[in-house]
Amino acid sequence: MLVIKIGGAAGIDYSNLCADIAGLAAQGQPIVLFHGGSDGANTLGEQLGHPPRFITSPSGHTSRQTDRRTLEIFMMATALLNRQFVERLRGLGVNALGLSGIDGGLLQGTRKTNVRAVENGRVRVIRDDWTGSIDQVNRGLLQTLLSAGYLPVIAPLAVSKAGEPLNIDGDRGAASVAAALEAETLLLLTNVSGLYRNFPDESSLIDRLPRTELAQATEKLAQGRMKKKLLGAQTALEAGVHRVIIGDGRRDQPISAALAGHGTIIE
Ligand code: ADP
Repeated sequence: MLVIKIGGAAGIDYSNLCADIAGLAAQGQPIVLFHGGSDGANTLGEQLGHPPRFITSPSGHTSRQTDRRTLEIFMMATALLNRQFVERLRGLGVNALGLSGIDGGLLQGTRKTNVRAVENGRVRVIRDDWTGSIDQVNRGLLQTLLSAGYLPVIAPLAVSKAGEPLNIDGDRGAASVAAALEAETLLLLTNVSGLYRNFPDESSLIDRLPRTELAQATEKLAQGRMKKKLLGAQTALEAGVHRVIIGDGRRDQPISAALAGHGTIIE
């Protein structure tokens, strides 16, 4: 089982990616594709007159402020991207089926309450927040789809016990799916070649990272969103995933290249 996460950042060539998936799927490799969507949501938010706003937590982390309108924009943007992946894959003969973590309770999560943000030196509590963490994956649903020959394409949303839709982190979502399926490989494709020892110096790419060094790398080497990838990697490895690869989504045959050893392999 191979779980692939593709971010929404610029520079990713989706046709290359889908062609590579089609080649692997034709060889009988079971695959789940998990995608992001924050860039599409930013653009759509601008177009709809509700531009993205970012908040900084007291510990210094920056995240999207997801009020109800932003959540709706996120749902629209990720739904579109999901359909575009399914369209491309089906055009290449792949039996792709699109869904979000809301559908069939695929990803069950907990809504964050009392999100804290620092504004003008003061801490403010935000209640209209629709982000969440993931508690459980409906593994039976995924197994049913996979055994019926579908390639699930998953959008980064979860659903709370009360039925509320939640904006979730894509790397964490993909890691939870890989963990639930006990995938052999979790591949996190991004717009860099992997984890750099001295970001942004490309020549400092770390090609092998033993899992015993992961916690230290998360703290010392990764900044910003790369931290979330390494935290996702940790969750997946702890749950029995054999290896996590952070690979370059911008290159030709991004998946085959990563599986052949290009990128940062954590095991
Ligand atoms: P995606 O949208 O593809 O998931 P993200 O933007 O979430 O990608 O995360 C990848 C980004 O993490 C890179 O573009 C880079 O700016 C940043 N980054 C921070 N620290 C590092 C590091 N040590 N090595 C590589 N990239 C890093």
